[in-house]
Amino acid sequence: MSLIANLRALHAVDSQVRGIRTRFENAERDLKRHQVQLETLAGKRRELEAQAKQLQAAVANLELEDSSFKQRMEQLRAELNSSANPRQYNALRDELKVIEGKRDGLAERVLAQMENLEKLKAEMAAGDAPIADRTRLRDMAKAALDESKSELGGRLAQLEAQRGRAASLLSEDVRAAFDEAAEQNEGEALAEVTVISVRHREFACGGCNAEIPLDAYSRASAQTDQLVTCNNCGRILYMETVPEKPGNKKTKAQAKEAALDPDGLG
Ligand SMILES: [Zn+2]
Repeated sequence: MSLIANLRALHAVDSQVRGIRTRFENAERDLKRHQVQLETLAGKRRELEAQAKQLQAAVANLELEDSSFKQRMEQLRAELNSSANPRQYNALRDELKVIEGKRDGLAERVLAQMENLEKLKAEMAAGDAPIADRTRLRDMAKAALDESKSELGGRLAQLEAQRGRAASLLSEDVRAAFDEAAEQNEGEALAEVTVISVRHREFACGGCNAEIPLDAYSRASAQTDQLVTCNNCGRILYMETVPEKPGNKKTKAQAKEAALDPDGLG
């Protein structure tokens, strides 16, 4: 096989390999995206849970403080009932008032913390649906990835082996040139030369439509084992069929055609 035939064989299997790899990559990217978003939501949830825990601990501390005040008050009331001394009685009554005031303050703080806790709980509840939705999307993306891997994994391995065999028929330089051209052109490493006008010596790259200089055209049309690449896109150029050179001896029919179509535009 000629160099170009070998390159085209490589391209045929290479594009299938790329197609499957692209599917895997897209599925993996999808899964990653959902995972990252889910992790963000879960992080927010953990933050809220930590805040709620702190608030609950603060409320528990306040309640503990209040119960010790309550105990002290019971004690003071008992002393008050048995007090016969007016000075002691007044002192006990004053202390009771102070503690009542402190308990009121505590009750307000407990209430405020409970309100904060309710807000946090509402915020957490509002996060339930987005977390559930995102989890579902993540699971679906995971299933899609697993499915395409089990469906196409074997085929990919086969194609990769086939690609290896096709590549082994080419020299290292040519393989490198192919890989570079493929990398630059999303796998489209080869392009056929388009003949715009033989008479005017106008040729273009079938991949990017850039004009091809006559010299490059001549080298591509010689169909030798020399690689010719497009200066614009880097694709490796080839020609399936080479048109007759102008000025070559024409057959009668061609001469007649040329006379009817003097611009050679056909
Ligand atoms: Zn090109």
